[in-house]
Amino acid sequence: MATIKAIEGASVHQIQSGQVIVDLCSVVKELVENSLDAGATSIDVRFKNQGLDVIEVQDNGDGISPHNYETLALKHHTSKLSTYSDLTTLQTFGFRGEALSSLCALSKFSVVTCMAPDAPKGTRLDFATSGKLSGMSVVAAQKGTTVFVENLFNNLPVRRRELERNIKREWGKVVGVLGQYACIQTGIKFSVSQQAGKGKKTTLFSTKGNRSTRENIVNVFGAKTLTALIALDLNLELETTSGPSQRWSTQDDGDRKDIRIVGHISRPASGEGRQTPDRQMFFVNARPCVLPQVSKAFNEVYKAYNGSQSPFIFCNIELDTHLYDVNVSPDKRTILLHDQNRMLESLKESLTALFESQDYTVPISQLP
Ligand code: ADP
Ligand code: MG
Repeated sequence: MATIKAIEGASVHQIQSGQVIVDLCSVVKELVENSLDAGATSIDVRFKNQGLDVIEVQDNGDGISPHNYETLALKHHTSKLSTYSDLTTLQTFGFRGEALSSLCALSKFSVVTCMAPDAPKGTRLDFATSGKLSGMSVVAAQKGTTVFVENLFNNLPVRRRELERNIKREWGKVVGVLGQYACIQTGIKFSVSQQAGKGKKTTLFSTKGNRSTRENIVNVFGAKTLTALIALDLNLELETTSGPSQRWSTQDDGDRKDIRIVGHISRPASGEGRQTPDRQMFFVNARPCVLPQVSKAFNEVYKAYNGSQSPFIFCNIELDTHLYDVNVSPDKRTILLHDQNRMLESLKESLTALFESQDYTVPISQLP
């Protein structure tokens, strides 16, 4: 019988990294979230050959302090969380300290960073596949951090081939997810550009540091999108059945138990939806995520008024950090919502009431 023994360290690293960074989309998401966590107000995402050659994310955030250079890309090293209990009050996107270390294992990874007092001088940091710092040099830089990911998955031949084969679909996902961050984040300038081969750089979209998600949506999807949208602002009542005075949450009195749904949805009048459900975006406290049940509830209610089309949905669920868990999947896209069924019931009632409350089911062209 074969002997049971530990897998060698470098292999463990590669195996785990492939679960954190599953595709092009996860690279982009992790890097943009790091920029947001660093307090950036401007984020510039640049691709060469749709990310197959280079993915570059530049921010004007805090920068990285020299005492963190050595540990920056080591596995499970993070400045955001130190004990498991911190997870329940988490205010940052990141918390596991896995993204940069995984990117080292799966690409040629480097960083240029600069803290305010040092500008216009910054430091370029190069990393080995293990996540260890392998080189350092002084370069010109402004305050903030730029991360370079080159030749993603080059050392995982099967995944690299899959990425190349499916690049069209992957690219669509990447642009979609960047649009989600650009729309939900107010006060932040996003710019996304792509360069094919040695060709000209083209900007896919950019936001202007707007104060509202409405203005962001105009920047990303065009002004026409807005005409048939109505504002969502639903307060979901989630009292326990054992009496309205009892708190829904089991946490102490400082916690909020209510859930607010804020965003935009297509008017359900016929002709004012979309042919396919291609623009449906869900967020939990501004974190883009996949919420199949919530999506289903929205689509069900809408269908009762407009059976032939799908709505544009932009939905941010605002709730206390005690009421959900983001530590479900390595890519953090799946979120566990506490008492989801009751929330969905309340959501459907409120949405129906909203659609009924005005002339939302009458086409705009037929309104008096
Ligand atoms: P996590 O985000 O879970 O902490 P990461 O591997 O994504 O893990 O990042 C590791 C650490 O590197 C972060 O905790 C943060 O301190 C630092 N870092 C990463 N990206 C940036 C950035 N753009 N600006 C400043 N610091 C960064
Ligand atoms: Mg991170």
